[in-house]
Amino acid sequence: MIDVRGVGKRYPQGPGTLTVLKGVSLTVAAGEFAAVVGPSGAGKSTLLHLIGGLDTPTAGEVRVDGRAWSSLTPAEQARRRNRLIGFVFQSYHLVPELTALENTMLPALVGGPREPAATLRARAEGLLEELGLGPRRAHRPGELSGGEQQRVAIARAVAHSPRILFADEPTANLDRQASARIMEIFTDLHRKGQTIIMITHEDEYAKFAERVIQIDEGRIVSVQLNQ
Ligand code: ADP
Repeated sequence: MIDVRGVGKRYPQGPGTLTVLKGVSLTVAAGEFAAVVGPSGAGKSTLLHLIGGLDTPTAGEVRVDGRAWSSLTPAEQARRRNRLIGFVFQSYHLVPELTALENTMLPALVGGPREPAATLRARAEGLLEELGLGPRRAHRPGELSGGEQQRVAIARAVAHSPRILFADEPTANLDRQASARIMEIFTDLHRKGQTIIMITHEDEYAKFAERVIQIDEGRIVSVQLNQ
């Protein structure tokens, strides 16, 4: 599903360059739940952005579902990203003016609806219900707790049935109880066949993944399989 081959990323820094990723190669199979761990600044977010086609590598290639991002025009990349990938960020990034339900429906509406509005709405409502947010669906983000906002962000990320779910520190701003709830949701999505790549710096949450990929100073330093 995901094939990362010899990927490097450098940024110009003053007169020289900052090398953030150094020849990273990895594959992620459909239906796999992988965690990416490592210290702050190791290059985890950069790697996720490259895999998601949000940024371009300075070396190597990323293929998702058989196509290299570099072989597509920006418009094709955007369409493909929207169709294939759902993103969950640490700071939720919900639209403050929209309700929980409207936020959840948003990605499925980008680029024109692909199904009747009633079908989409029913699925978004069902998802919010499953995530314990049924009674909160008409609330705006400002009226929700951090854990509730993150659950809306997860509903939004999967409402258009993307093949892959990316999560960058999804528990970063949450207390233990809310974090545990988020991990339950990820485990459940994974059980239903969702491919998930999650960045976390907490070993406790990496344990929920099948495979833990550790990154340090821009390289993969270990890959561990969980039971
Ligand atoms: P992590 O997610 O592991 O904390 P990041 O991938 O966010 O690490 O960042 C890795 C390094 O790349 C950091 O030193 C960061 O400052 C640098 N970096 C990230 N994005 C940019 C950018 N757009 N320009 C310059 N440096 C960047």
